[in-house]
Amino acid sequence: MWAACFSIVMWIGGCAHLTGKHTTQTTRHGQWRVPPNIVICPNGPVDQQRVEQAVAFWQDLGYEFGSVRQITGYYEACVTSDVYKIPFNTIVIDIPDQSFSFGEHAAITRTGRRTNTDVIVMAKIEMLSRDATEHVLEHELGHALGFSDINLDGHLMHFSRTGLGTNTTGLLQTTEITP
Ligand SMILES: [Zn+2]
Repeated sequence: MWAACFSIVMWIGGCAHLTGKHTTQTTRHGQWRVPPNIVICPNGPVDQQRVEQAVAFWQDLGYEFGSVRQITGYYEACVTSDVYKIPFNTIVIDIPDQSFSFGEHAAITRTGRRTNTDVIVMAKIEMLSRDATEHVLEHELGHALGFSDINLDGHLMHFSRTGLGTNTTGLLQTTEITP
């Protein structure tokens, strides 16, 4: 079994941290057991090159990924808001669902985890193409990897877009999860 939880966003924090105040240190809730493949939907907000750039950012911190693929034809997880259609070990990147009102949120990342082990098995990043040139994609990939939002100016996981930076303190891949 796995559960989808609203992990996320620039202004909220997510999953286990929805109710808490933002701290200045990152916490991580679960991790992938298999290097996740990344799929960019046909009308996705970013292109393959941009995604590979963000992947390289996290690879430098010790994380592994599978393939990065731009979808051009039919892909079920791209045409439905049903997160259960996302294949296991996959991160889907798409523009926001029409039913989702962004308000001041820049992006949202939902993750699906196995309820008994906290192993992350799927994730969906929804963001706008206007944010493709900032650190938003790297930030959302951070959520897909299990990290929470924090309140530390200049840090990649800062909760607001205006506070985002390239500080990666606490983001190194150092722990292994036992399934
Ligand atoms: Zn965030």
